[in-house]
Amino acid sequence: MNAKPDNWGIIGHEWAVEFLRRSIAGNRVAHAYLISGPEGVGKALLALRLAQALNCNEERIDPCLRCHSCQRIERGNHPDVRIAGMATQAAEAKADDAARQKELKIDTVREWQRDMILKPYEGRQRVFILHDAEKLNEAASNAMLKTLEEPPPYATLILVAHTAGNLLPTVVSRCQLLRLRPLPRVQVVAALRQQCNLAAEDAELLAAWSGGRIGWALRMVADPNQLAVRQEQLNELLALTDQPLAARLRWAEEHAKAYRAGEQVAVFEMLDLWQSWWRDVLLTAAGCPQAVVHVNRRADLEAAAMQYTLPDLHAFVASISLAAQRLRDNVNPQLALEGVLLSIPERRAAR
Ligand SMILES: [Zn+2]
Repeated sequence: MNAKPDNWGIIGHEWAVEFLRRSIAGNRVAHAYLISGPEGVGKALLALRLAQALNCNEERIDPCLRCHSCQRIERGNHPDVRIAGMATQAAEAKADDAARQKELKIDTVREWQRDMILKPYEGRQRVFILHDAEKLNEAASNAMLKTLEEPPPYATLILVAHTAGNLLPTVVSRCQLLRLRPLPRVQVVAALRQQCNLAAEDAELLAAWSGGRIGWALRMVADPNQLAVRQEQLNELLALTDQPLAARLRWAEEHAKAYRAGEQVAVFEMLDLWQSWWRDVLLTAAGCPQAVVHVNRRADLEAAAMQYTLPDLHAFVASISLAAQRLRDNVNPQLALEGVLLSIPERRAAR
C-alpha cells in the first residue's frame, strides 16, 4: 500500500473531502449538495471528484482517476454525469443572445429534469452538476425546488454557487451545504512550490495575489502571460486616479460595454484586483504592512498610504465591494462602475 489514502487531488478543504468520503463509506450520500465559495477556490474540482467517486469502476470510497468512468467524467463525456451552467447555456444559445444572458433560465432546468427521469446508463449514480447556481432566476429556482423535493434515488444534484446567500432559502435548505473558504496563504505557497516548482519569491507573490484561491493561482502558473496582463491592468487602474472625470467616465462606459458583451468574469477580476490594491494601501496606512497582497510593490504602497486618510481609504475599499455586489444584483453595469470611479478618494494636500 503505497498510495495515499485518497486521490481526490484537492489542495486544502480537507474537511470537505473527509466529509464526502465518510458519506460514501456509510452509504449516506445526500441527494443534493450546494458547494459555495469564491471564484477559483476549488468548487468545480470538488464537484467533479464527487461525481467520479460515485461512479468509479473500482467501487471504492475514493475515485481511482484511471478507470474508464473516472477518465470520461474528467473529460466531461460520461453519459451519467451532466454539467450545466452559464457557459453551457450560452453555448446552446444564438451568438448575440448568448452574450446578453445574465441568468440561468427555466429551460436549462427543465432540460435537466427531462434527462433526470432516465436511470443510469452505465454508472451507478446519475450526477447533475449546476455551476453558477446563484444565477438561477425565480422561475428556474422554483422549478429546481420541485426536483430537490423529490429527486429520483439514483440521482445526486450538485449546485455550485459563489455564495449560498444569493439562492432561495428554500433551495439552500434542501441541500447539504459545503462552504469552501480561501486557503491560508502558507498552504498556497507550499502547494505552488511542491506542485509547480516555483521559486519561493514567485510562490509568495502569487499566493498573496490569489487570496487563498488555489485554482486561480494554478491557472496563473499555467498561463504566465496572464500575470503580465494583470500587472499592466493594475497600472491602468492606478493611472485612473489622476485622470479627469471625463476620462474616468469613458473608462466606466467601456467596461460596462464589455460586461454586457459577456466579459463578466473579467470585470469582476478587475474589480478584485483594484480592491486588493486599495486594501493594501489601507493596511499599510493602518500600520499592518505584513498583511499586504502586493508584496512586490511595498514602496508604492507606502507612498500611496501617505497621501490618503484612513476613512477615505476605508470608504473606497467598501465602494468597490458595493459595485461588485450591485453587478451581481444585475444593476445597470455602467451605473455600478461609475459609482466606483466617482468615489476615488482625493489626495491629501502636500504637507
Ligand atoms: Zn475510477
